[in-house]
Amino acid sequence: MTTAQVSPPPAAREAGAPLDVHPAIVATVARARAAFDRGVTRPIEWRLEQLRQLERMVLENEARFVAALASDLGKPSFESWAAETNYIVDDARYIARHLRSWAAPKRVASALFVQPARSRIEHDPLGVVLVIAPWNYPMQLSLSPLAGAIAGGNAVVLKPSEVSPASSALLAELVPKYLDREAVHVVEGAVAETTTLLAERFDHIFYTGNGAVARVVMTAAAKHLTPMTLELGGKSPTIVLRDADLDVAARRIAWGKFFNAGQTCVAPDYVLVDASVEEQFVERIRACITAFYGADPKASPDFGRIVSQRHLKRLVGLLSAGDVVVGGTYDTETRYLAPTLLRDVPLDAPVMCEEIFGPILPIVPIDGLDAAIAFVRERPKPLALYVFTGSRSAADEVLARTSSGGACVNDVVSHLVPHDLPFGGVGPSGMGAYHGRHSFETFTHRKSVLDKPTFIDPPVRYPPYSEATLKWLKRLM
Ligand code: NAD
Repeated sequence: MTTAQVSPPPAAREAGAPLDVHPAIVATVARARAAFDRGVTRPIEWRLEQLRQLERMVLENEARFVAALASDLGKPSFESWAAETNYIVDDARYIARHLRSWAAPKRVASALFVQPARSRIEHDPLGVVLVIAPWNYPMQLSLSPLAGAIAGGNAVVLKPSEVSPASSALLAELVPKYLDREAVHVVEGAVAETTTLLAERFDHIFYTGNGAVARVVMTAAAKHLTPMTLELGGKSPTIVLRDADLDVAARRIAWGKFFNAGQTCVAPDYVLVDASVEEQFVERIRACITAFYGADPKASPDFGRIVSQRHLKRLVGLLSAGDVVVGGTYDTETRYLAPTLLRDVPLDAPVMCEEIFGPILPIVPIDGLDAAIAFVRERPKPLALYVFTGSRSAADEVLARTSSGGACVNDVVSHLVPHDLPFGGVGPSGMGAYHGRHSFETFTHRKSVLDKPTFIDPPVRYPPYSEATLKWLKRLM
């Protein structure tokens, strides 16, 4: 059985019938576990070879990756390169370059009480890892966790999102061609298949997606006490203070918001702009939209599409709150929604309560730094927070008085790029982190090992205890 055969026929999937796929999925997890138990995945050489193969898979099939992403999300080829193919290649190379040093046991001091002894931290593989990926960056968010899991010496079952079917099908076809067919598997499917998977025992579950499904996944994981990483979302606020460079702020915010048509977990969700500069800021964002995408963004090859008609319908429903000052037009057939600015939005409107996850940007005037901080603090901890200001102390104050998974000062989204910055949420925006070395840490267990020689065995710790020894020890330690 190849990995790709795990995919049920589309008809069975549409009917949501798990029965015929159930045994195949269970068998797949069993194969992954058998490979792990045979020790296939543990050697560093195996891990490095898999990372090289991952890189080859992407590079040799780049055009097919770009085509799948265009089919699923109308993703512009620049965005496919920057946030998907090149991202994955760069990530796999960086991890491979550092893997030996990360995986080497780390010596630590041994306390006097246990001497003579040597103490060290070993990075143990976890076992069989389940990666559940979403649709918005379907390649990056499948293959970057996969690279981390492989680097950790684990067997992996990857479940791509059914909402991005072309990307999912391509992964199911290519992964078994390039990677170890016993240890690395792709299981395609939707709720039924994921439910079947979640009934199995994994050693770690890495889930990226929305908070509602995270609760389902976490409940299933609790049954086996399986540890998890949750990469979730939320409403990432962007604060623009009076002293910000408005030209730069508008350009960077418009870029981060409308990249991938706003379907980015760390996209600026809304802007809190100092009321004294709101007018100028709106005009600058308006100008940026035209400069980026022309007078008719629908005709621009650089603006993506909404992933499905269902998601487009939800977004269109958000437009009724407030004044549409730019955009607001849409086309159901081509899943197009124009880059849109909203003003005068009631704070209890759905667009200000749920994560937008599309190209709609509400602009909310605010009365200075304290009001902006209070606004953020009254709401759930976001995945990202952005502040634009010319003042170092104002930026520091925003960072110190708010909690978010990550943050940028005078930029948006870019904190995902440096390899050594851990990427993850806090509270309702997520649990755990990855990227670079943090991926390796996430997918390994830090095992404490104390190694004691037998040629000497000081009797101090053994009963019968003596007052004299105790006194001596107290003085010594
Ligand atoms: P999605 O609909 O593709 O769902 C994510 C995964 O969960 C899919 O593989 C899907 O098959 C599975 N799933 C769906 N329903 C399920 C169920 N009932 N039981 C088990 N599994 C189920 O993606 P989504 O959730 O719409 O993704 C968007 C959300 O993800 C946003 O909230 C976004 O902010 C967040 N996100 C977070 C990150 C991050 O890195 N923190 C990255 C991307 C997206």
